[in-house]
Amino acid sequence: MNPRKNMTALVTGASRGIGAAAAVLLAEQGMNIVVHYHAARDQAEATARECERRGANVMVAAADLRNFAELERFKAKLDAAGLSPDILVNNAGVSHYGLFTDVTEQDWENVVGVNLKGMFRLTQLLAPAMVRRRYGRIINVSSVWGIAGASCEVLYSLTKGGVNAFTKALAKELAPSGVTVNAVAPGAVETDMMRDFSEAELAALRAEIPAGRLARPEEIASLIRFLASPESGYITGQVISPNGGWLT
Ligand code: NAP
Repeated sequence: MNPRKNMTALVTGASRGIGAAAAVLLAEQGMNIVVHYHAARDQAEATARECERRGANVMVAAADLRNFAELERFKAKLDAAGLSPDILVNNAGVSHYGLFTDVTEQDWENVVGVNLKGMFRLTQLLAPAMVRRRYGRIINVSSVWGIAGASCEVLYSLTKGGVNAFTKALAKELAPSGVTVNAVAPGAVETDMMRDFSEAELAALRAEIPAGRLARPEEIASLIRFLASPESGYITGQVISPNGGWLT
């Protein structure tokens, strides 16, 4: 019997990019999928259809990760549907480019709100049931910049450094309960997040990456799929960086 058959995976930010690719790969494993999104309902529904084509039962639900009350309502919807995720992929994130000195309070609220506050609260809401079942997989999507830091991405880098520290600390707290917590820290990936880069900037980026190209979202999702699997149970507290050799 497929041990994943009765499992539920929740992927935040599954309307687009890495999250959509992860939801589809997890759907192929035979799990129930919760497709979370913020505003892009049509795209979230398109992801859901892709998951359903692979045989998964799918729920689509929105929540603004910056808002604790919305996350509590989101959790209540899962409860009402009888869904308690065994796998939580904290993928949704926003970037920010600009000089450190130009960062406003609104920028701070937005980037810290999505990348850290929302991830923290959603995990707080969902981890207790994993602990009770003595099984769970929490995968946080970080970035190479959370390890190395990037000029003109200080705010973004600090949130991803926070994701990495959160991962390591929570992994220690939850390991005795059979719940693993890992971070996936991609290099540059072909998604909407890169859409503000000009062709010249993208060419310069490719030249810096030993693999000579950006990653496809599926190449990040395949690592998420492995960390979500029952077979990955002895890996916890790790920050793993698929980056084409960019950062070693
Ligand atoms: P993306 O294509 O820009 O998608 C971002 C996702 O986050 C969307 O699903 C979006 O929902 C959701 N989101 C944005 N604001 C939100 C909010 N306030 N509340 C809830 N959800 C919100 O991003 P991506 O490139 O796939 O990135 C996914 C993760 O990978 C992020 O954590 C990012 O930091 C990380 N990452 C990306 C790259 C890269 O090069 N692309 C590199 C390293 C790390 P809607 O569609 O509904 O707006």
